[in-house]
Amino acid sequence: MVGIVVVSHSASLAEGVVELARQMGGEELPIEAAGGLEDGTIGTDVERVRAAIERVMSDEGVLVLMDLGSALLSAEMAVEFLEPGAEVVLSEAPFVEGAVAAAVAARGGMSLQEVQDEARRAIGMKEAQLGVEGGGEVQEPVSEDGLQARIPVLNEIGLHARPAALVAELAGRFDADLRLSKTGGAGPVSARSLTGLMTLVARKGDELVAIASGPQATAALAALEELAREGFGEGVATGPVVVRPVAASRAVAPSGAHPEQPIAAPEAGSLLRGIAASTGIALGPVRRFGEQLDAPAARASEGAEVERQRLEAARGAARSAIERDRETVAQRTSASDAAIFTAHVALLDDEALVDAATARIDAGDAAEMAWYQATEQTAEAWRALDDELMRERATDVEDVGRRVLAALAGRESSASIREEGVLVVSELTPADAAGLNTDLVRGIAAARGTATAHAAILARALGIPAVVGLGDAVLAIADGTSVLLDGGEGTVLVAPDEEVAERAGRARMLALERRERALSRAAEPAVTRDGVTIEVAANLGGAGGAAEAVQYGADGVGLLRTEFLFLERAEMPSEDEQTETIAQIADALDGRPLIVRTLDVGADKPLAALPMAPEQNPFLGTRGIRLSLRHPDLLATQLRAILRVAADHPLKVMFPMVATAAELDAARAAVVQARTATGVQTPMEVGIMIEVPAAALQADLLAASADFFSIGTNDLTQYAMAAERGNEQVGDLLAGPQPAVLRLVAATVAGAAAHGRWVGVCGELAGDPAAAVLLAGLGVRELSMAPPLIAEVKQALRSVSLADAAAAAQRALDARDATQARRYAADLLP
Ligand code: PEP
Ligand code: MG
Repeated sequence: MVGIVVVSHSASLAEGVVELARQMGGEELPIEAAGGLEDGTIGTDVERVRAAIERVMSDEGVLVLMDLGSALLSAEMAVEFLEPGAEVVLSEAPFVEGAVAAAVAARGGMSLQEVQDEARRAIGMKEAQLGVEGGGEVQEPVSEDGLQARIPVLNEIGLHARPAALVAELAGRFDADLRLSKTGGAGPVSARSLTGLMTLVARKGDELVAIASGPQATAALAALEELAREGFGEGVATGPVVVRPVAASRAVAPSGAHPEQPIAAPEAGSLLRGIAASTGIALGPVRRFGEQLDAPAARASEGAEVERQRLEAARGAARSAIERDRETVAQRTSASDAAIFTAHVALLDDEALVDAATARIDAGDAAEMAWYQATEQTAEAWRALDDELMRERATDVEDVGRRVLAALAGRESSASIREEGVLVVSELTPADAAGLNTDLVRGIAAARGTATAHAAILARALGIPAVVGLGDAVLAIADGTSVLLDGGEGTVLVAPDEEVAERAGRARMLALERRERALSRAAEPAVTRDGVTIEVAANLGGAGGAAEAVQYGADGVGLLRTEFLFLERAEMPSEDEQTETIAQIADALDGRPLIVRTLDVGADKPLAALPMAPEQNPFLGTRGIRLSLRHPDLLATQLRAILRVAADHPLKVMFPMVATAAELDAARAAVVQARTATGVQTPMEVGIMIEVPAAALQADLLAASADFFSIGTNDLTQYAMAAERGNEQVGDLLAGPQPAVLRLVAATVAGAAAHGRWVGVCGELAGDPAAAVLLAGLGVRELSMAPPLIAEVKQALRSVSLADAAAAAQRALDARDATQARRYAADLLP
């Protein structure tokens, strides 16, 4: 075997690297450490290096790896003292990765030259894993002839270093040329090459294609298949569990309840991966809602009459709690999000449900058990239906069920935990989120859900770190187990060790301090280090909330979702009512700009006052401007109200879901008519939302007749990625700054610039500090978000120069995925 010598200024570093390399290369590997000076101090000793080379010398030669500076000089001098003819190569390879790769190659019987090549390419492993541009391209020519096999990757963390070393070792045992590639991905690479194997970045669920030729090709493939079946030495279901954001079907356990198929609790140190929903770090014991829809403790009935009254009173208390939550949600997110509470009130009064509970009371049950049985049976029955919508409603029944149980227990809300910690739920419903006690809930970990779902928006609005779409494994964590939740990375670490927990505790304190600092400067403008001001505004979805937004530091309102005026109404609001409400909001802004979006509804957000035909794909149907143009009276009334307020307030109007220039022309014509009708000639900018990829790609054309663009990244991402907003199954396609969406943002900015128009962003992306930096770097000049996010976005913008942001944004356009794109900007932030 080729010998290896590891030269470092530090004896312990050299020994540590040898220890690591041996793990991969085995005990027989001739490898020696030559670190530090004789007296134990830091430095490199020529004689020590020479002696180490001698000890591992064989006919195969020796590869020497060095850390830095004088280590190179010492190694060169040591070689001069060797017998002439000794084959020694001093390698420039990365110190740690090089030693590990060389160890595997040497063990596989490679020549000195091959071992040297392997060590040199070792940096590619890291580059490929981190997705560094141009990195990790270890491609080897391969002839298509040879035996082929398809090898599934079954172990939990995929072909990481240790399994890859086993594959390399196996390949070295056979007289065969064995090459691997990943189906639909990188390769082929030599199976003897650890560096090559690592660049495949093969993860659980991926498939490898193995091609073997040579005298022992069949045996090599058989051995490889056997190794793969065993999960490459790690077993197929053991080891740390890494759950990727692949969500399970909806028809599973209710919030807090346990899934039907018991799942083993993740071991200490397991890292669960989900979807980043609300940034921040939370550390604490797992907590669950006080009232699960578990059978309540048996309580004797105090007689049918008493129990009926108790149930009646509890339903009344639950109704008040629901009304309060509806108001909170309407103010913090939008009226459409709040609409769910109307359904909850209806369920609370549902005759079948109440009758079933009453019958049980009459048969001798206490109110708790009667109500529990009635709601649970209804939920179960709905869940069994072959109708997605009804299955979803089952969660609502349980929500209402819990509320009444809470009220029967004398508590106000079910959505509370009694001790501080990290709340674990199956799915965070808007009702849960609205009722959260923010003093006790440090973070939220949900098995299901997406980053743009209502509850995630609410968690962000409340400033609670949250990870959603974690899969059922998170539900199996025992109550009280300490977890470390990172809402920015989308991870949950189970039972972190003391050191990690301490570090996280410090990071959390730093984050809180950072937030405090940001809040203390919230009212100041966001000026980048090179002097460019970015307007940071608030999204509002209700009549209230404008004054609160100003307190949070809003420079204005970048998106007023006017749906709240229309939803849950039997009749359309009058022009006067609309005028009054919009004027109230404008007044509360005290001279700050306000962008009013015209009605954005469709079959996905139906209006009681405007019956619509059901559509197969409502998101692709008559929504937004499409609907308004088909109901000219509705649009005209709204525009007249907006113009009347614009007469003495700094108002702008914008139209949602515009896809074509014809729609924009028609909308502008409606504005002209409304001007004539009201007589208001005060200048008012007329803009459009860019939410449809077609609009982004035709931005130059649209900019000729739009005064500004506001990009709705929620819908733009949905349409660009062909991934429905609320569908957790495709949550990973919706999360973060997707490079493809950033390209559409860049196209929008370029199109706007052709006519000197400005561009804003009012989708959820704007509220993520790192994404905000990318958007500013792409030329966006206004960002609008949930009010609690404003201060930190402003602070992030202040900490960068626009030039640096622009450079990061350019790299992000070429990123492999949203995580990498985001990281380019995150690296700029303190
Ligand atoms: C968007 O689509 O990004 C947006 C801001 O509009 P809404 O979320 O109201 O659809
Ligand atoms: Mg939208």
